[in-house]
Amino acid sequence: AQILTAIGETRAAGGVVIPEATAKYLLGQFGVSVPRGLTVEETSSVPSSLTPPLVLKAVSPTLVHKSDAGGVRVGLRHDELAEVADDMRRRLAELGHTTAGFLVEEMAPKGLEVVLGAVRTEGLGWAVMVGLGGIFVEVLEDVAFGLAPLTRGQIRAMLDELRGKALLGGVRGGAPVDIDSLVEVVYALAEPGGLLASLPDDVVEIDLNPIIVSAHGAVAVDARFVLR
Ligand code: ADP
Ligand code: MG
Repeated sequence: AQILTAIGETRAAGGVVIPEATAKYLLGQFGVSVPRGLTVEETSSVPSSLTPPLVLKAVSPTLVHKSDAGGVRVGLRHDELAEVADDMRRRLAELGHTTAGFLVEEMAPKGLEVVLGAVRTEGLGWAVMVGLGGIFVEVLEDVAFGLAPLTRGQIRAMLDELRGKALLGGVRGGAPVDIDSLVEVVYALAEPGGLLASLPDDVVEIDLNPIIVSAHGAVAVDARFVLR
């Protein structure tokens, strides 16, 4: 029900991306870890119970790539939020975006950035893409594809196809990341009756970019659900 309301409100505001907090709430419902956080109109409403360093993200129905427009700041203390938010709102306004509020969240433990995408296809259902973040996606185009529903075995095989898969075993002496937790995130989306299967037809694409995977697990720190 929450997603249907969000879809209606997003369309009414002329946008095509549902609010990140709503997308993350849905992910949480399907067992995917997301950062602790909340959406506020003004940063004075941020509770001190959120543990810094904090991330501040602009909430705007027309903003698709937040950091390209200066809509994301990481590593903030509570006492920095107000000024950074004012600045962000002003900068976005200059670019024509109305800031409806801010998503303030805790930072995920450092780890490997993984991208997970899915698009609704004509006839074949959801096509799922997974890859390592950063240059691995943008320059090396090192991604693997599958069609939902997927088994855990199929998901492991997709990760195994990645040329950069050695990074999942730990970078330069670093702790190996929790690959099982990453498999579970993909599975929560792509299993029969999983999140993808439950999405209303209006949602035609989702992007979790990035999921941060570390020895402590996998956290989806960005979630973009795109409407047709
Ligand atoms: P964009 O819309 O630009 O993709 P993101 O929400 O992905 O915005 O934020 C940009 C970057 O900031 C991410 O790629 C990630 O590196 C970092 N980031 C965002 N949220 C968090 C978080 N909660 N914890 C740690 N890093 C984060
Ligand atoms: Mg992102």
